[in-house]
Amino acid sequence: MKRIGLFGGTFNPIHLGHLRAAQEVREGFSLEEIYLIPSALPPHKAPEGIAEAEARLEMIRLAVSDCTGFTVSNVELMRSGPSYTIDTVHHFKSLLPRDVERYFIVGVDAFLEINLWKSYKALFLSIPFIVMTRPGYHRERNRSVESLGDFLKSRISDRYQYSASQSCFVHVEKQPVYIFEADFLDISSTEIRKRIKEGRSIRSYVPEKVEDFIKKKGLFYDISD
Ligand code: ATP
Ligand code: MG
Repeated sequence: MKRIGLFGGTFNPIHLGHLRAAQEVREGFSLEEIYLIPSALPPHKAPEGIAEAEARLEMIRLAVSDCTGFTVSNVELMRSGPSYTIDTVHHFKSLLPRDVERYFIVGVDAFLEINLWKSYKALFLSIPFIVMTRPGYHRERNRSVESLGDFLKSRISDRYQYSASQSCFVHVEKQPVYIFEADFLDISSTEIRKRIKEGRSIRSYVPEKVEDFIKKKGLFYDISD
C-alpha cells in the first residue's frame, strides 16, 4: 500500500533541521513521498518578518531539487486567506486515490498548540499524525511520550491510550498519533533569520542553493524579530 506524508509549516526559510527530520520520517514510516506544504499566511504567526510565500516555496523547491521522495505543494498558496490544515488534508483526500495511506507530519512544538487550529477535532478523525520530537524540546523519550499523552488526553480525548506494541497513541474512533524521535539538528528558522540579521553565516543551516537564493534576494536582512 502506498503511503505519503504531508508536512506543513511556514518554512521561513526551510532548513536542514526540517530536511533531516523529514528524511528520517520518510525512511522510518516507508513513505513513498513527502509533500512539503508552505502556508500562505500562518494563522498563528504575526506576518511581519515572513518572506513572500512564493520565495518560501522557491526555497523549498531548491532544497529538494536533488532529492527523491519529496514534492513541493503550493496548495495552500492557491487558496485565498489564511491556510488551515483541515482544508489541506481534505484537498489531499480528494486528490489521491482512496487506498493511499496519508500521515500528517508535525513537530512537537506545533502539535502542542493544535487545539488552536481550525476544526482540530475533525483533523483527528481525518488523518494519523506523526509527531516529531525536536532537539532541545524534550530530553528523554519517556518525558515526551508522557507530556504528549497528557496533552492528548486532556485536550483532545481522554480515550487516547498509548499502545506499546504499536508505538503510538490509539483511540477507538480517532486516528493514531505516532511519536517519532527526530532530535537530529538543533536548527530553527528563527535562529537563521537572527544570524542573517547579524551578518553571520548560515552555511551549515540550509542547503547551499537556499543560501545562495537568500543572498541573491536579500531576504531576512531587515526584519525586526
Ligand atoms: P520558526 O522558528 O520560524 O518557528 P521553525 O524552524 O520552527 O521556524 P517551522 O516552519 O515553524 O520552522 O516548522 C515547520 C514544522 O517543522 C513544525 O512542525 C516544526 O515543529 C518542525 N521543525 C522545525 N524545525 C525542526 C527541527 N530542527 N527538527 C524537527 N522538526 C522541526
Ligand atoms: Mg516553528
